[in-house]
Amino acid sequence: MNTAKTLAAITKYWQQACEDQGLAEQHLAGAGAVFQLELKLKNHYGKKYALCVSNATTGLLAIGLALNLKKEEFITTPYTYGASLAGFLLLENRPIFAEVNSQTLTLEPESVRQKITSNTRAILAVDIYGNPCNQVALRQIADEYGLWYIADAAQSLGAYREGIPASALADALVVSFTVGKSVFAGEGGAILTDNSELYQKLVWLTQHPERQKRDIGLFLTNEFALNARIHPLAAVIALSIFDDSLQQLKLYQYWCFEVINALNKIGLTKSIFWQSEEIIPAFFRLIASWNKEAQATELLNQLSQRNIAVNLEYLLLQPLFTHPAFLAEYEHLFLNHQTVHFCASNYFCLNSLNQLGIKR
Ligand SMILES: *Cc1c(COP(=O)(O)O)cnc(C)c1O
Repeated sequence: MNTAKTLAAITKYWQQACEDQGLAEQHLAGAGAVFQLELKLKNHYGKKYALCVSNATTGLLAIGLALNLKKEEFITTPYTYGASLAGFLLLENRPIFAEVNSQTLTLEPESVRQKITSNTRAILAVDIYGNPCNQVALRQIADEYGLWYIADAAQSLGAYREGIPASALADALVVSFTVGKSVFAGEGGAILTDNSELYQKLVWLTQHPERQKRDIGLFLTNEFALNARIHPLAAVIALSIFDDSLQQLKLYQYWCFEVINALNKIGLTKSIFWQSEEIIPAFFRLIASWNKEAQATELLNQLSQRNIAVNLEYLLLQPLFTHPAFLAEYEHLFLNHQTVHFCASNYFCLNSLNQLGIKR
């Protein structure tokens, strides 16, 4: 990554902001790097509106607030990082956990359909490990039942499915610029949507009156908004590396597909059909599962014969409803009779050890 470019951008912003308070204040209205970064995100996803936020977790909370999802029922995946659900749970929404697809570990649309009740209001899908979920099917189900389709795309910026950016078909999707994500700015995130009413509500609830005035043209402004603004320097950093990060990700994706081809030829792991299904993950993790019993040493040997240097790491993914912290805080929201049948213990991830596979 070209850190000199980023440092120059930071220095320039900080010098100008310290010399000219008027310019510094423009940040409150979402001008400057925030505006530019939102443009890039809108272009990438082909969405009408982008709103930078302090982080993805807060972005998901803001969506729950804006859609007035409070004490409502939503269908989601149990195999994700807890932050996917944090905002919705804080609003006392009740999660219904559906099954996940054995290849992508993302929500299985047919299972979602089966779990819908007359109380269901939303689907919260997660592109876990950067694997794009089946958004065409989820979109169709959401439309059929009149549900909100919300996507946690924190790990999947740069992923595609059937030529469409991962989760772009959701009513609202959230990306993250935190450590390990496709674009790393220290902290930060963004919400994308085509829904103008939702966008205005988000601005009203989470942004400074200066931005409310600019974006919604209000006479009446809301000083009582939650401050979910992105830090201006996070926006400067994300903007300075956005294109390079996605370019570098492309190289990494290329390398991951070479590894997948090798895995499929070696045959110790279940075949991965992503290429034929037009699934291009962001490879937050490159995951695979054993065909029969685990044969780690043999697999590593065969990969190294093909000049692929990796280490293997088991996925320590436990369904959210088994986490002690989930039970301590939210057991009352959770219907205990729910079960999921999927077992993650057969899965592992492959981490690159060589130069070609350097992630970012
Ligand atoms: C990183 C991550 C989050 C949280 O993102 P922040 O920007 O750190 O709040 C949420 N969901 C998933 C799947 C993540 O990987």
